[in-house]
Amino acid sequence: MGEKRWLIIIALVVILFLGFRFMSNDKKSNEEDITKTNYIMGTVIKLSIYDDVDEKIFEESFDVIRNIESKMSLNIADSEVNSLNNKGFNEFVGISDQTLFVLEKSMEYSKLSDGYFDVTIGPLVELWGIGSDKARIPSSDEIKDSISKIDYKDVQIDGNKVKLNKDNMVIDLGAIAKGYAADEVASFLKSKGVNRAIIDLGGNIYTLGSKEKNIPWTVGVQNPFNETRGDFIGVVKASDKSVVTSGVYERYLEQGGKKYHHILDPFTGYPIDNELMSVTIISDNSIDGDALSTTVFALGVQKGYELIKSLEGIDAIFITKDKEIYLTPNASDNFEIKSKDFKVKSFK
Ligand code: ADP
Ligand code: MG
Repeated sequence: MGEKRWLIIIALVVILFLGFRFMSNDKKSNEEDITKTNYIMGTVIKLSIYDDVDEKIFEESFDVIRNIESKMSLNIADSEVNSLNNKGFNEFVGISDQTLFVLEKSMEYSKLSDGYFDVTIGPLVELWGIGSDKARIPSSDEIKDSISKIDYKDVQIDGNKVKLNKDNMVIDLGAIAKGYAADEVASFLKSKGVNRAIIDLGGNIYTLGSKEKNIPWTVGVQNPFNETRGDFIGVVKASDKSVVTSGVYERYLEQGGKKYHHILDPFTGYPIDNELMSVTIISDNSIDGDALSTTVFALGVQKGYELIKSLEGIDAIFITKDKEIYLTPNASDNFEIKSKDFKVKSFK
């Protein structure tokens, strides 16, 4: 009789053990199902949450982005930015706090870069149409005409109201809105108790928390000489940081053996042409990272580096056409090169 009891006890232990294993396997397969993708703001959004959360958090996060898009996109007819562009000439138009915040940040970077970043670049972006099916090389008269409509100093802000002092001006938040959206998703997730997540808006990345305790996330830096995404020249270690890259390799028009990309020089009216292939900005907030990656790209290595040095808590990785990599001191500590084709240089 005693032997039988032991057998039953052993059988129960085995069943319990298997049951637990099964349950933990189940949890693991849930963990693998943590990434959801969507297409918003003209880009692929990839959201990965590494915490046990309600499924609906993904859709709510996408809604945070859709809401920003509905206010700030030029592709949405009744967005706030479009109504400002349509009605704002010599007349104050009211905008939401969110759009005001992003516009004011854009004005700050327009000033900091002496207009190399210019939030009123819209007419020129429209003219070139890079990345759209209407892309073409404009005539010099058309370029002159578009340039004459650009000047951030003609944007007048009074409280929540904005006025444009020149006719046919077009505010374009395309260089900064995705960064803002990444920040907003990060704070939404934090408010829901999420501790670990990767928010990726078409390469505009925010790393929430860290991979494991004391182990940071790693974010790949794209090889700008290769258009296929996922060919990384190295990785950045990041925890609660934004990592954003602007480069010549993603949206461009190719004609007569020349590539015309989508970051434009507000003074010449042509795509920025300097020694850079790409700039990656590492920062606490993605709105700054997004604005600065475009700004620093437009400024080039030397002026870009000077701007970054003048700012607090911003790091950068510059990759040049000569396959040289320039790193700010902190970036140098947190960047691991994987490719042998590039050489690391110091700033002059
Ligand atoms: P992406 O959005 O492709 O990742 P960026 O963040 O660098 O790249 O933003 C590029 C967008 O910024 C362009 O599509 C255009 O809308 C806008 N833009 C282009 N040139 C400038 C500029 N000199 N200043 C401000 N915005 C610009
Ligand atoms: Mg940008």
